Amino acid sequence: MYRDVIRGVYPGRFQPIHWGHIEVIKWALEKVEELIIVIGSAQESHTIINPFTAGERIVMIKAALKDANIDLDRVYIVPVPDILLNAVWVNYVALYVPKFRYGIARNPLVIRLFKEAGYEVLIPPPYDRAMYSSTRIRRYMLEGNDEWKKLVPPSVVMIIDEIKGLERLREVSGRD
Ligand code: NAP
Repeated sequence: MYRDVIRGVYPGRFQPIHWGHIEVIKWALEKVEELIIVIGSAQESHTIINPFTAGERIVMIKAALKDANIDLDRVYIVPVPDILLNAVWVNYVALYVPKFRYGIARNPLVIRLFKEAGYEVLIPPPYDRAMYSSTRIRRYMLEGNDEWKKLVPPSVVMIIDEIKGLERLREVSGRD
C-alpha cells in the first residue's frame, strides 16, 4: 500500500504560490496518485526574494489548493531547508518525504539533481511563464501595483494581507 502508491515530488520556494504553480500541480496530479509539494529554502524568510516563512507558505499553499478545488487527500506539503551539498540534496529531500518515483521540475539544476539521484523527471509545460512568476508578483508588491492580486488565488491575497506581507516586503527592501 505505502510502497505501491505512485508519488511525485514538486519542489519550489513558493514565494508566494501563484496560478502557474497551481497549473503545474493539476498537471502533476494527472500523472501521479499522490503529490509531495516540497517547500524549498524552508529556513529562509524576511528577505526580498524569500519574504514568507515556511509556516506561512504551508498555509498559503493549502488555501490555494482549496481555492482550486484540488483534493488535499492526494497532496503532502513538506518544508525542507537548503543544504550546501547539491550533490546529495535529492537523497536528503528523500529523508523528509514519503517514498516517491518522480521528480517534477522545470528548474535545470533541480532536473539534473533528480536524474543523477536515479529518479525519473516529469517536466511540466510553462503556464504563461512571463506573467505567472513569483519574481513578478514580489516586484508588483514592492511597486504598489495591485495587479499581483490577479496572479495568485484569492485566499493567498487574504493571507498576505492578514500577515501584513506588503509592509514586510517594503521594510526589508528598505523602501518606505
Ligand atoms: P520556484 O521558482 O518556486 O518554482 C518551482 C517550480 O515551478 C519550478 O520548476 C518552476 O519552473 C515552476 N514554475 C514556476 N512558475 C511556473 C509557470 N508559470 N508555469 C510552469 N512552471 C512554473 O522554485 P525553484 O527555485 O525551482 O525551487 C527549487 C527549490 O529547491 C529552492 O528552494 C531551492 O533552494 C531548492 N534546492 C535546494 C538545493 C540545496 O539545498 N542544495 C538544491 C537544489 C534546489 P521555472 O524553472 O520555469 O521557474
